[in-house]
Amino acid sequence: RPLSLIRLVADSVDARRADATAKQITIDVDVARHLPAHADPVRLRQVLDNLVSNAVKYTPQGGTVTITGRHDDTTATTTLRVTDTGIGIPAEQRPHLFDRFFRASNAVSQGIKGTGLGLAISKAIIDAHHGTLSAEPAGPDGGTTFTVTVPSCPPPEP
Ligand code: ATP
Ligand code: MG
Repeated sequence: RPLSLIRLVADSVDARRADATAKQITIDVDVARHLPAHADPVRLRQVLDNLVSNAVKYTPQGGTVTITGRHDDTTATTTLRVTDTGIGIPAEQRPHLFDRFFRASNAVSQGIKGTGLGLAISKAIIDAHHGTLSAEPAGPDGGTTFTVTVPSCPPPEP
């Protein structure tokens, strides 16, 4: 059975629904119905869970989390983006974002709990898929966008 990314995203969002509702955070999902991905569904779900949980955790009351999914035929890749209107990551600390146990100073000073392992594990999982995982500021008003790209089909036979 082909991997259903829209289903993985929906399950990941459902798992955070209560946390989001408690903070009046809106979660918008705009993912194409059939997105091809050459990926381990359990591992990809783990990555999504961390990105969605981070987006909800590091976004204050009343914010928005947006998840989009697109396939690019020319590069044979599928890209998922998780954008939030949250606290952002201080620019000078961004190079350490995927380090084990890294926690940004603004998250720590606001008393938001975490281990600092989710992104390091997510990066290792996406690397194993020969994909990419990156973060950038969402826009001039703050927030963060995480972008996951994975191959949409198996590599050619050698
Ligand atoms: P856990 O191991 O439970 O996931 P964590 O959420 O603290 O703990 P990571 O997911 O690895 O760890 O994230 C590392 C750090 O990066 C966070 O502690 C936080 O400082 C920062 N961070 C991650 N996602 C966001 C985000 N969406 N907005 C702002 N800061 C973020
Ligand atoms: Mg996390």
